[in-house]
Amino acid sequence: MNKIEVIVTKCTGCGLCIKSCPYGAIKLVDSPHQLESGRTVKQLAVIDLDKCTYCGACVEACKRYNAILIEKKEEQVTATLDVYKNVWIYAEQHRGTISPVVFELIAKGKELAEKLNVKVCSILLGHNIKELAKELIYYGSDIVYIVDDPVLKEFLDEPYSAVLSWLIQKEKPEIVLMGATNIGRSFASRVAAKIRTGLTADCTGLDVDPTTRNLLQTRPAFGGNIMATILTPKHRPQMATVRHKVFKPLQKDTSRNGEIIEVQYDFSKVKIRTKFLEFIKDTTAKVNLAEADIIVSGGRGLGGPDGFKLLEELADLLGGAVGASRAAVDAGWIPYSHQVGQTGRTVAPKLYIACGISGQIQHLVGMSSSQIIVAINKDPSAPMMKIATYSIEGDLYEIVPELIKAVKEYKGIKD
Ligand SMILES: Cc1cc2nc3c(=O)[nH]c(=O)nc-3n(C[C@H](O)[C@H](O)[C@H](O)COP(=O)(O)OP(=O)(O)OC[C@H]3O[C@@H](n4cnc5c(N)ncnc54)[C@H](O)[C@@H]3O)c2cc1C
Ligand code: SF4
Ligand code: SF4
Repeated sequence: MNKIEVIVTKCTGCGLCIKSCPYGAIKLVDSPHQLESGRTVKQLAVIDLDKCTYCGACVEACKRYNAILIEKKEEQVTATLDVYKNVWIYAEQHRGTISPVVFELIAKGKELAEKLNVKVCSILLGHNIKELAKELIYYGSDIVYIVDDPVLKEFLDEPYSAVLSWLIQKEKPEIVLMGATNIGRSFASRVAAKIRTGLTADCTGLDVDPTTRNLLQTRPAFGGNIMATILTPKHRPQMATVRHKVFKPLQKDTSRNGEIIEVQYDFSKVKIRTKFLEFIKDTTAKVNLAEADIIVSGGRGLGGPDGFKLLEELADLLGGAVGASRAAVDAGWIPYSHQVGQTGRTVAPKLYIACGISGQIQHLVGMSSSQIIVAINKDPSAPMMKIATYSIEGDLYEIVPELIKAVKEYKGIKD
């Protein structure tokens, strides 16, 4: 059994531990008592054991007084790990269209499953989505689990996480992968917390150790300066989210066969506190950034929102999308959906034109695998100029109009 206690003769009643507790399990009560030093203090910290998860955060906060003692029992989970089998891919779909990252994950999942000698399964949740199952098989899934229910028509965290957590506990996969999409990020963390397992977000590499069956989850850490490989050795399933375009999908093979398993779930007991009101499409993006072959991206060097009009003109002529650095997004010049980088989108177009972007590591991690990078910058020593295939030194307000003119001439477009 886990144990936690406040040592009365050490607790000064300072209250530092209260803020540190993520579960609101600590309060101060009036209880005059004497410390080891002989000093008398008026208040004492009291821990509500019904709320405490034994996370240890308060022990850290009380380092100065050492007044909280915690004893955690070693987790005895290894014996049950063997019952977990198969690699699962969450087949995220929006209004009947499967997210492209799903096909990439199936390809990687298949590779991992072969090393572990198990099957790769896709999990399809939604309403009127049964016909999508075949597509998942054509791209490599051995089994597709479907939960088709009107409650799942639109993505809502509560019913989706309830059904997936239940299915995981029932079927016991050893690995669960999801796309690091807006939905995947919030969905995966909810499910991992519900089933009390580990989750590694935003992985850029995955492998398995066939002996321990541990998933080797690699992702950038410390602002992209190092790559860390994370393991979840004591819990199953091992959960990870992966960004779009990190892995390549398999060729579609319509001769592939697989098993489709329809599952029913009783949603009547699920508390759903959110309601889907309306779907509002982002009309500012003419071309999907993540899918674009050409991206014209702007940063703080644009000096204001009007600069994006110029970039839009170039992007339109090239049939590309407009991207942005976080500095430009934070300044309110362009919506967040255009942000490229660590906290934005990961892109890998054939051509990335960076205009007035210095190339800080948080931006580079989101675009450095672009095939050709063109940097336009006043400063020749900017990191983006160093990594670019072609660096154009100068004022973007002189260079971009010249590029627009040249493309128009090439295409025979007259002003
Ligand atoms: C946790 C964390 C996450 C982050 N995530 C992201 C992310 O996802 N994406 C992201 O982009 N950033 C991210 N950042 C911010 C990142 O560190 C940089 O601050 C940001 O990328 C800088 O944007 P910038 O290159 O547009 O601006 P700056 O670094 O200010 O660069 C502007 C550039 O424009 C050039 N310039 C100025 N005027 C002109 C002109 N007229 N013509 C040509 N060139 C000109 C300058 O020489 C300079 O190189 C993150 C930071 C943190 C701490
Ligand atoms: S337990 Fe530690 S941090 Fe909390 S009130 Fe007592 S001395 Fe302060
Ligand atoms: S161990 Fe964690 S949950 Fe328990 S009282 Fe301390 S901070 Fe709160």
